[in-house]
Amino acid sequence: MLALKNIVKNYYVGGQTVEALKGVSINFRQNEFVSILGPSGCGKTTLLNIIGGLDHYTSGDLVINGKSTKKYKDKDWDVYRNHRIGFIFQSYNLIPHQTVLGNVELALTIAGVSKKERIKKAKQALDRVGLSGQYYKRPNQLSGGQCQRVAIARALVNDPEILLADEPTGALDTVTSVQIMDLIKEISAERLVIMVTHNPELAEQYSTRIIRLLDGEIIKDTAPLTDEEELLDLEKIAEKEKKAQKELYNLAIKGVSVKDKIKPKKEKAKMSMFTAFMLSARNLISKFGRTVMVGIAGSIGIIGIALVLAFSAGIKGYVASMQDDMLSGNPITITEQTYDLDVLTGMMNTRQKQ
Ligand code: ADP
Ligand code: MG
Repeated sequence: MLALKNIVKNYYVGGQTVEALKGVSINFRQNEFVSILGPSGCGKTTLLNIIGGLDHYTSGDLVINGKSTKKYKDKDWDVYRNHRIGFIFQSYNLIPHQTVLGNVELALTIAGVSKKERIKKAKQALDRVGLSGQYYKRPNQLSGGQCQRVAIARALVNDPEILLADEPTGALDTVTSVQIMDLIKEISAERLVIMVTHNPELAEQYSTRIIRLLDGEIIKDTAPLTDEEELLDLEKIAEKEKKAQKELYNLAIKGVSVKDKIKPKKEKAKMSMFTAFMLSARNLISKFGRTVMVGIAGSIGIIGIALVLAFSAGIKGYVASMQDDMLSGNPITITEQTYDLDVLTGMMNTRQKQ
């Protein structure tokens, strides 16, 4: 369902090329728990970001359900990220001024789900990760483990096929780490989970497959897809396509306009202007004191500039009027004709010599 084909990723920094990934090929199963292990700087995060569409590969191909992403545009990547992928990060990445419920809801707001449906789904996701009754708390009122649970709920609320986790327990103590890993393990029963970690014990204990990276290359894969599995995957994709075509054919026979009947479900990946405006307004209101202070500071700045301009204009005017007054007492007369003094002095010089 998801395959990396000879992925190369180069970063260009200050005229130098950093080869973060040097031709990585992996085939994933529809549902397994993959851990990506390796020392710091070996390209784990880069790999995860490319799988999740957060970063784009330099060459190679990412194949999703049998389709190449080489010709993907920004909009296609947005839809892929918002509907197929859930992300969990080491630092939770929650929005501090939003409630727990608001944070989870946001993923649905972007996907364009109605308010009522959003709240229902967000509450279900929070119940699932063991946070029922904590809906209206803010992230700073929660422990690290609880924050990561909120992040997991947010990742799952869109019901993605793939869950990506970058060191999800990196900032947690051992006991909490185990609880979070149990939760992720539970999730992996029904979808593909790809987790980056530098903790080999966690990887061995929980995952079904471990991929080791070193300097941008795979050095070990404990459970690569067998040839039969790959063939089965291809057959499944072909079968799906055949089924879709048959459906189209049947509808055409019945005389139903295909365009009307099977409009592809529109998957939104951007929030509307109104939603964006409301979110910004809520941000401003939630930090009312700060907003007022910024307003006052801005006004002081503008008033200051106005004062400086007024002063400089006033002083300029004063200097001009002073000049007018002073110089009118010493008039300079300019006449139309002039005298050539050089001739006169020349004549005087010759006379003195005589
Ligand atoms: P890991 O997650 O395994 O610690 P990364 O994927 O973050 O490693 O980084 C792999 C290599 O790519 C490192 O050498 C890092 O310096 C480089 N790298 C990662 N991101 C960038 C970037 N945005 N710009 C330039 N170099 C980067
Ligand atoms: Mg990393």
